[in-house]
Amino acid sequence: MSYSMMRAARMHAIGSPMSIDNVERPAPQATDVLVEVKACGMVPNLGNVLASWPTWCPHLPLPALPAVFGLDPAGVIVEVGSQVIGLKPGDRVYVSPVRSCGACPACLSDNRVACEYFVFNGYFGFSKERSQTIYDLYPHGGFCEYMAAPQHAIVKLADNISFEEAVRLGYLGTGYSALRKCGPLAGKTLIINGISGTLGLGITLLALAMGVTKILGSGRNQVLLDRVKALSPGRIEVFSTDDGSTGQWVRSRTGGHGADFMIDALGAAVSLDVFDDAMQGVGRGGTIVNVGGTVGKLAIDMKWLMDNSMTLIGSAWFTAAEGYDVVEMIRTKTIDLSILQHEVAQLQDINEAISGLGARHGGFSNYVIVP
Ligand SMILES: [Zn+2]
Repeated sequence: MSYSMMRAARMHAIGSPMSIDNVERPAPQATDVLVEVKACGMVPNLGNVLASWPTWCPHLPLPALPAVFGLDPAGVIVEVGSQVIGLKPGDRVYVSPVRSCGACPACLSDNRVACEYFVFNGYFGFSKERSQTIYDLYPHGGFCEYMAAPQHAIVKLADNISFEEAVRLGYLGTGYSALRKCGPLAGKTLIINGISGTLGLGITLLALAMGVTKILGSGRNQVLLDRVKALSPGRIEVFSTDDGSTGQWVRSRTGGHGADFMIDALGAAVSLDVFDDAMQGVGRGGTIVNVGGTVGKLAIDMKWLMDNSMTLIGSAWFTAAEGYDVVEMIRTKTIDLSILQHEVAQLQDINEAISGLGARHGGFSNYVIVP
């Protein structure tokens, strides 16, 4: 086999710009596929996120530097390992960043995020002792031309889903998994805390498709909130946290009972007080799922939790099987991604792109890097 070279954006030191380097193109192992990357999603302001990460989350290690980041790649399979039978060259795919040991009880029950070796490929890991073991096996995120990935991480795309849309599967799948953890949704009322962000907007589309009859969404930017409400004016109500308490507002909109469920989708920079306040809008027997990025310890009244039979769940990412569900909802227009505005940048312009230039329209903006 010939080992040709490829271009990859690599970060050599924390906080430094990425450089476009020529590196060895990976080869797929027996149960891997090799994907030619066509697009990779990017969190806005990724450079600052990566620079701040060791301070914000010292317990969540970055891969050893220099590293190729890029959490949400989509592309075309160009080669498969000797033991791959369900995927073939030419398949259009999304590559989930979930990497794990593959052999522990958690992995074997498709709960890979519970594996002690679980990492987000192209982003960060969850164990200072174990994460680098996985990064050594899969050193490439999506900010390069080719990446090897285990076949269990592959979600095949329908032909009518563009690569730009496909890179949104990470956020959509995360929202979908959180909604499933709420339980049956038809006829229910849902608080989405942080509704106009990238996670919140996806959760809104999915919740509408899954039968939630009333969405009560909070955010800050009234223009963006109005834009979210316009997606389904009869079923979505919005509230700016600049106007007071989200929890009290939800109570006022539900006859005092409170909502059935809440999903928190706040960004990392938002105060935990905003989470705590919205949580007070969830009624007796309700379920609260956190997929947001808020950092820190929240004081929870355990007597309230018990007396009201509340459920509080943390949900990280989603399974590839759940990814297939979301693909099918996009394929059939059960959720309509035409509302997204794709902000596409070339790999060689990645530093300009990750500095967050340009006007961002909350979750409606979709930042994409193409090789
Ligand atoms: Zn495992």
